[in-house]
Amino acid sequence: MSRLFFILAVIIVVYLLLRSYRKQPPKQDVAAASEDMVRCVRCGVHLPKSESILAGGNFYCSDAHRREHQAK
Ligand SMILES: [Zn+2]
Repeated sequence: MSRLFFILAVIIVVYLLLRSYRKQPPKQDVAAASEDMVRCVRCGVHLPKSESILAGGNFYCSDAHRREHQAK
């Protein structure tokens, strides 16, 4: 009977090791997926770089804010 518990314990340890091993790859995916965040110089909102508008070295959240900021 104690042998059965030992086998069960080994299975649990192997299972936990496999689980912790599998947890590592997604971290790299998150790091790769997380984009650079930029700040709108007009309203200060943070947004992903790909969604921002770059004009004159400044980032804007929308074309309207780009025009408002550049009009000044
Ligand atoms: Zn803005």
